[in-house]
Amino acid sequence: MHPLFNNIREPVVCAKCADEFQAGATDAASLQEYTRMDVGFTDRGLQVWCRRHQTNVVHIHFAGATPEADFRCLEKKPKN
Ligand SMILES: [Zn+2]
Repeated sequence: MHPLFNNIREPVVCAKCADEFQAGATDAASLQEYTRMDVGFTDRGLQVWCRRHQTNVVHIHFAGATPEADFRCLEKKPKN
């Protein structure tokens, strides 16, 4: 699998969004559509923030290291 394609094996989810979605409290078709998350770099590392609940989802601490990151965008060619 190419590293620039979607290789996500375990999505990061907001626990509150997941609870509400699983309880049938939303009309969203999927948890992905229901959740609203911001992702960004902080002074500590990388944070995922739930906009819907205004709460931290995860804050990954880089411990001063600079992990390898690939910001290239690779799109599949449309089929003719
Ligand atoms: Zn949430």
